[in-house]
Amino acid sequence: MKREFHQLAASTYDVLIIGGGIYGACAAWDAALRGLSVALLEKGDFGQATSSNTLRVIHGGLRYLQHGDLGRLRHSIQERTAFMRIAPHLVHPLPFVIPTYGHALRGREALFMALLINNVIGFDRNRLQDCQKYLPSGRIIRKKEFLRLFPGVEETGLTGGAIVYDCQMFSSERLVLSFVRSAVGAGARVANYAEVFELLSKGDRVLGVKARNLLNGCEVEIRAKVVVNTTGPWLDRVLSQGDSRSPTRNTAFSKAFNILINRQLIPRYALGIYTRTRFKDRDALLSKGSRLLFLAPWHNRTLLGTVHLPYDCDPDQCRVTEEEIQSFLNEVNDAYPTAQLVRQDVCFTYGGLLPMGSHAQGGVQLVKHYRIRDHKKDDGVDGLISVMGVKFTEARHVAEKTVDLLVAKLGAMSRKSQTTMTPLYGGKIEQFSTFLAEEFRKKPQHVSRDAFQSLLYLYGSAYPEVLKYIDSDFYPCQSDHRVSIFKGQPKPSAEGCSDLSDEFRSGDSSLLRAEVFHGIREEMAQKLTDVVFRRTSLSLPGNQKNEFVGMAAALMAKELDWDDVRTQRELSEVETVLSASNVS
Ligand SMILES: Cc1cc2nc3c(=O)[nH]c(=O)nc-3n(C[C@H](O)[C@H](O)[C@H](O)COP(=O)(O)OP(=O)(O)OC[C@H]3O[C@@H](n4cnc5c(N)ncnc54)[C@H](O)[C@@H]3O)c2cc1C
Repeated sequence: MKREFHQLAASTYDVLIIGGGIYGACAAWDAALRGLSVALLEKGDFGQATSSNTLRVIHGGLRYLQHGDLGRLRHSIQERTAFMRIAPHLVHPLPFVIPTYGHALRGREALFMALLINNVIGFDRNRLQDCQKYLPSGRIIRKKEFLRLFPGVEETGLTGGAIVYDCQMFSSERLVLSFVRSAVGAGARVANYAEVFELLSKGDRVLGVKARNLLNGCEVEIRAKVVVNTTGPWLDRVLSQGDSRSPTRNTAFSKAFNILINRQLIPRYALGIYTRTRFKDRDALLSKGSRLLFLAPWHNRTLLGTVHLPYDCDPDQCRVTEEEIQSFLNEVNDAYPTAQLVRQDVCFTYGGLLPMGSHAQGGVQLVKHYRIRDHKKDDGVDGLISVMGVKFTEARHVAEKTVDLLVAKLGAMSRKSQTTMTPLYGGKIEQFSTFLAEEFRKKPQHVSRDAFQSLLYLYGSAYPEVLKYIDSDFYPCQSDHRVSIFKGQPKPSAEGCSDLSDEFRSGDSSLLRAEVFHGIREEMAQKLTDVVFRRTSLSLPGNQKNEFVGMAAALMAKELDWDDVRTQRELSEVETVLSASNVS
């Protein structure tokens, strides 16, 4: 995957996609797989915005029963199956447990009915080759069993619990990247750090875009028959960049965030807890006046969320504040006192923006359904489609619908979408547990089991591409090329230098080195933040230690010819993300 920004202007594409989050990445993959010529532009790095801030759940959509939306429940179940099929290394089953109280809406009887409907509607959820991915039917457990599993949950009125199986992403960052890589494999041209700043148009027709290479300021015009705007929270901003009759803009957004707790509160299960709220979901058939939060185990830590708050400022300035974190901790401690969470427990915050219908005291009314807008129909502006997603889980499905519309607009002969069945980059795995067992036999001796396991989960069947770079002496460390890193810390450097910690030297530095080279040479990593947060095993919680980050910086500096000033700037950017996210 090579970044050739100027080359992008050499062709006229069937479709140009703006925004490389999960919605843009899925659209690029679907369109390229159907034989359309595709360009994808992302102003930051792929998946850097909302798509890397999720609770990491691929939802089967049990919640939609609350709205009586059986259609959405059905298609969410199908999407969950599709994700496990096409990305078996990145999407894995996880049981979720919800406590039951009394005999009304939160009671055993209501949950029993919900699980029954869910089981019936998801009758074919296990149509997969890989039996490791089979999801058992949901079931009700008694109070005694519930308290054995989750001591400390509010016992007043507790009658038991409901277990329902959903899926969790090992890494949402690599999942987005897998779609991008797959699209490129099918012929798409893509660039990160490529910002669209103007829609090119003639009369009422959009003809392409003007884009800026944010790494050097160069600008190009890129022509396309249809432009698809998948910029999530920036959707309206992009729509305002046209000089023809401006399409209508009317999306409000809310701030949503999760926090990562640096200990595993509950192993093996995600636990739902009810917190008090005055907010009533006006779209729900039955509303409980309470909010269901989840504590989900993730990489030996606990992901906790999701909080929703109104927001009407610049999407580029969206931050989670100290006050918001503290208020969330209070809410969780109130509902689940056993957790006893304090500020120091929070090691990362994941915040993003989601489309909002309205807000009133007590809560935010989220937009429930995705929108695909053909601006020809809505505003008389041809050659432009806008897509607003509301769930990561639905992105593949929405991409399929978008490309169906695109094909119709182009009047093109094209085959049907193949994306539910075609493995993504790294996803050519028949049985995941067999794959793990077989590949472990090939583990390089000096790589630890943990590091090798992360490699297999992150890169799936494509991991040998990373191993190609292991032990090759690309750049022997030179003493004059050490980087000074975070103030007051020992100077780190590329492998072979003497000041890495013993733990690190004796561990997996050669594998990490290989991942960094692979990220730069094969996956378009342009900045240190790309390597640290979205390409390599450094992106996994707890791995962003000074010595690892420093080594990655030294390798990137050498490979990309950064001087000391640039290297320091890259390190500061990593530090900024970490401090904004409160890594302890
Ligand atoms: C806290 C939180 C938790 C969530 N949890 C879940 C969950 O567990 N499961 C689930 O299914 N969903 C979840 N969601 C919802 C899900 O994350 C979103 O629906 C999804 O990520 C939206 O993806 P997107 O591609 O539309 O937006 P984004 O990921 O924001 O992508 C839009 C991209 O467009 C780029 N862009 C903007 N302007 C330009 C421009 N001018 N030129 C080029 N590029 C541009 C941006 O840089 C950005 O990368 C959660 C959301 C949040 C915020």
